[in-house]
Amino acid sequence: MTLLKQNNMKYNKYLPLLTLILLSNPLFAQKSKKISKIKQAVINSVATHQQELIGLSDKVWALAETALMEYESSKVLADYAESQGFTVERGIAGMPTAFVASYGSGKPIIAVLGEFDALPGISQKASPIKEPLNKGAAGHGCGHNLFGAGSLGAALAIKELIEDGKLSGTVRFYGTPAEEAIGGKIYMARDGIFDDVDISLDWHPSQVTKANVQSTLALVDFNVEFFGKSAHASSDPWNGRSAVDGMELFNMGVNVYREHIRPTVRIHYTIQAGGDVPNVVPEYAKVWIWIRDSKRSVVAEVYQRVQEIAKGAAMMAGVDYKVSLNGGDYEILVNRTGGKVMHDNLELLGPITYTAEENEFAKKIQQATDKPQDGMNTEIAPFEETKEHPGGGSTDVGDVSWVVPEIRLSVATAPAGTPWHSWAVVACGGMSIGHKGMLLAAKAIGMTMVDLFQNEALRKEIKEEFVEKKGDQVFKAMLPEGPPPVPKIK
Ligand SMILES: [Zn+2]
Repeated sequence: MTLLKQNNMKYNKYLPLLTLILLSNPLFAQKSKKISKIKQAVINSVATHQQELIGLSDKVWALAETALMEYESSKVLADYAESQGFTVERGIAGMPTAFVASYGSGKPIIAVLGEFDALPGISQKASPIKEPLNKGAAGHGCGHNLFGAGSLGAALAIKELIEDGKLSGTVRFYGTPAEEAIGGKIYMARDGIFDDVDISLDWHPSQVTKANVQSTLALVDFNVEFFGKSAHASSDPWNGRSAVDGMELFNMGVNVYREHIRPTVRIHYTIQAGGDVPNVVPEYAKVWIWIRDSKRSVVAEVYQRVQEIAKGAAMMAGVDYKVSLNGGDYEILVNRTGGKVMHDNLELLGPITYTAEENEFAKKIQQATDKPQDGMNTEIAPFEETKEHPGGGSTDVGDVSWVVPEIRLSVATAPAGTPWHSWAVVACGGMSIGHKGMLLAAKAIGMTMVDLFQNEALRKEIKEEFVEKKGDQVFKAMLPEGPPPVPKIK
């Protein structure tokens, strides 16, 4: 006892010095960083508007409108932005549901992206048991209801700081439709809507929380059609030329070609039309194909070759063919400088905490989808190395990232293992697990925007990385000529 006391006294003498040494060590300094007043204002703003943001997200969740049909969802977000003092321009880049909400004036121009389209056929209640809200209807299986409302919450916090004279410049919220189909951002990028932006940010609902410094896959989406000549399949087949023959030879050619593509390439297709009845030589066939790779340059190479295969197949079958480009995404041009700033802000905020009921909900979702029942992942993932070949999916954020430096965030809005684009994501996105993720995203994006507005040297460093990584590649949207294919409303 006495000894212990003596020891304590001995150390007490050195305590101030010891603290100083510890705090000056970068490892400890990180942990001891305080949230600045201005960042606290962002957190407070999100907290003040919390119920409104949850309300927006829930409305968009219940509307569950699919790509290019998000009329009400887009209006809900745009109207709210307008009511908060943003100037809103609707019907951008030929899409009635695309809009830009802006506030402030001059440079820097800092943007945040927001999506709001749903996926067909996966309607679901906010319940951990599979049960549609409206049978056969769409559902937010990618969490875009949270994406849109969360990003708008960040933009609103910055708007208030500009209004109060604490920041100067312009904040913009980009309402970007149809991510799940044609990729609204590709059309917006093609039309130069992002050209004067300094830095853009986005987030995506996920199973993990991290500054996202991984790329995505570049993609080309196209159709190949074959046109033959019809005839009776038994009495005069020699007068017919089968479009299905052309299609089968084409698919065979592509599948043989698979042996000679890089392991990072993905080719997937479906047959859209392949004749009607066996006793008629089919005059029409259609295939729908996507080619992906971690690099746009490789996609372009494979796309070229596949078009040659279509030509060869048509020659063999004696039919005509047509290749129609639907669109294509760039891979994400990762910005690590920006990503690190996002990571530091996430660490300042700390992890999300969940109630026992929320963890129970998460475990039921995991049980229903045959996943280990470990509940919500609360970890803020360490700042990762960027992989050369990330695998996974594609996004039209890729195109934006080749026009302007893009800073990205993933936030857990569903438990680990949740199958994405499924009813389970819809369920979590309509209740407090999703809401908590959305609010964290709004805060982290808002705080990162504060850094960008305040720190000119940081903006310069982010732009330098962008310019260096982009190299001499010139952005060219992979799209058919003309306006986006907006369906006519009946
Ligand atoms: Zn998505």
